[in-house]
Amino acid sequence: MSASGSVGQRDAEGKPTVFSGIQPTGIVHVGNYVGAIRNWASMLDDYDCTFCVVDLHAMTVPYDAGDMQSRVFETFAMNVAGGLDPDRCRLFVQSHVPEVTELCWILFSCTAMGDLSRMTQFKEKSEKLKGQINAGLFAYPVLMAADILLYRAGVVPVGDDQTQHLEFAREVARRFNTRFGDTFPEPEPLFSDVPRLMGLDNKAKMSKTLNNYISLLDEPEEIWAKLSTAATDPARIRRGDPGTPEICNIFTMHQAFSPAEDTEWAANGCRTADIGCLDCKRRLADSMAAELAPILEKYRGLISRPDHVRHLMDEGAAACRGIAQKTLEEVRQRIGVR
Ligand code: ATP
Ligand code: MG
Repeated sequence: MSASGSVGQRDAEGKPTVFSGIQPTGIVHVGNYVGAIRNWASMLDDYDCTFCVVDLHAMTVPYDAGDMQSRVFETFAMNVAGGLDPDRCRLFVQSHVPEVTELCWILFSCTAMGDLSRMTQFKEKSEKLKGQINAGLFAYPVLMAADILLYRAGVVPVGDDQTQHLEFAREVARRFNTRFGDTFPEPEPLFSDVPRLMGLDNKAKMSKTLNNYISLLDEPEEIWAKLSTAATDPARIRRGDPGTPEICNIFTMHQAFSPAEDTEWAANGCRTADIGCLDCKRRLADSMAAELAPILEKYRGLISRPDHVRHLMDEGAAACRGIAQKTLEEVRQRIGVR
């Protein structure tokens, strides 16, 4: 992990305040896991952590309203199964603390249209959506800034696809502070060891909405089926062709999931062509399945107790509500609205 700059607000024990979120836009994949959830779980002891299932963000792309509740439920349960112990962090659903929407509106007045129009995520997603682009997708980074600033988080652990949105959130905080007085820390991104896992085709980042992923729900056979046909270093056409591990997504996944000796075996074997891509993938499939099996088991246990999961959601929201209301009270005073 690496962080730069200030860490913003700290809790009573001096731990820096952390916020991050995940969208209920589909099944949580191994990119989300290594780029976000596993990293979040590793921070629980040293940071004051708040994590969120951002359902209001997920409205910005077309979706079936009848599915939203189950997606939120499953994403929430998967976060707990992935290591976010609700006793050691605040884990909640974005819409359960509606104060964020008021702060979002307030922050619109500290937002430059030009900044929003430069956002890569908006350009990429709107390119795919063609005629179905809504203003929410354009304003997505303002809601994300509101999420972070509502909890006055100084540290935001994300994948590198969110770097530009974090820069935007810092700019919004600066503008608000300049105009209305010092209120918000400027949040800094914090990346995991795997800030960007590419999709199975190695053409775009692994993404819930691109269907190019290995999901945390995949059984070992499915993991193997997906890996066996995944793209590798294009220079390795025949088994005897040497390759460059650093440009191969399979190697990146080894770094994320395999013990150091296996990662070294994969790198050396690829360079010297002592191993074929299928050998390399086989060992990766085993490492990945071994790490994901207990998560899947825990997930199944959680979803078999829906009342317990809903109780955890309620507790998370209650813990966040007080913080959110306090921030909003100060913000209202600052902007002259009572
Ligand atoms: P969508 O396609 O709906 O945007 P997503 O797969 O990008 O879904 P998000 O919910 O937008 O997932 O992101 C949740 C977290 O996972 C964010 O911190 C994001 O930066 C991180 N993340 C997403 N994809 C990757 C990836 N391929 N590698 C590393 N981190 C990732
Ligand atoms: Mg995303």
